[in-house]
Amino acid sequence: MFPIVHARQLSDAVFEMGVAAPAIARKAKAGQFLMLRVDEDGERIPLTFSDWSAEEGWIRFIFMRVGKTTHELSHLGVGDSIADVVGPLGVPTHTDGLGRVAVVGGGVGAAVAYPVARAMAAAGAEVTVILGARTADLLILQDEFEALPLRSSSSPPTTARPTQGPGDRAAQGALAWRRRSTTRWRSARPS
Ligand SMILES: Cc1cc2nc3c(=O)[nH]c(=O)nc-3n(C[C@H](O)[C@H](O)[C@H](O)COP(=O)(O)OP(=O)(O)OC[C@H]3O[C@@H](n4cnc5c(N)ncnc54)[C@H](O)[C@@H]3O)c2cc1C
Repeated sequence: MFPIVHARQLSDAVFEMGVAAPAIARKAKAGQFLMLRVDEDGERIPLTFSDWSAEEGWIRFIFMRVGKTTHELSHLGVGDSIADVVGPLGVPTHTDGLGRVAVVGGGVGAAVAYPVARAMAAAGAEVTVILGARTADLLILQDEFEALPLRSSSSPPTTARPTQGPGDRAAQGALAWRRRSTTRWRSARPS
C-alpha cells in the first residue's frame, strides 16, 4: 500500500496528489510516468510524475477527473492509501546539452511541463515556458513555474494574467516565463 501524504484540488476537475514511495522517488526523472491502481479490483492507469523528492521519499502526480479511476482517486485524501504504484516507466526527457528551449503545456499538460522545464533549467538551458488553458481558472502550477531556480535574476518574473469570462479571447489564458542566461526575466501577454 502507498499512503497518500499530499492532496489538493487545483481546479474544478484537476487534482494534485502525493504518495510515499521512497524507492520510486529515488529513480524518477522528468518525463517519466507511473502506473497506479486505486484498489485491488481497480484498473491500472498511467499518470506522469509532476514532482518528487528522493530525500523525503515522496512522488506527486496531477490528474484530470475524466472517468472511473480518476473519479475514485479524486475522493481520496491524506491518510488514505493507494493499492499499487509502479514506476518509474518510460524514457526520461532529454535535458542535457540544450541551448534555448521552449516548454509548452496546455491545461493539465502543465503537470508534465513543470519537471521538464525544471530539469532543463537545472542543466543550464535557456528555458521559455508557455502555458495555456481554455479558461484562466484551468491554469495550474503558476507559482511553481515562477519559483523555478535561476542562475541569476535581477527582478522577479512578471506574468500576464488572463481575465475570466466565457467568449473572452483573453480567457484563453496564456502565460510565458523566460529564464535567460543574462539577468532578466521576460513575460509575454496573451494575444
Ligand atoms: C503515458 C501517459 C501519461 C499520462 N499522464 C497523465 C497525467 O499526468 N495526468 C492526467 O490527467 N492524465 C494522464 N494520462 C491520461 C490518463 O491515463 C487517463 O486520463 C486515465 O487513464 C483515465 O482513466 P479513468 O479510469 O479515470 O477514465 P476512463 O473511465 O478510462 O475514461 C476515459 C475516457 O473515456 C470516457 N468514457 C468512459 N466511459 C465511457 C462511456 N461509457 N461512454 C463514453 N465515454 C466514456 C471518459 O469520459 C474519459 O474521457 C496519461 C496517459 C498516458 C498514456
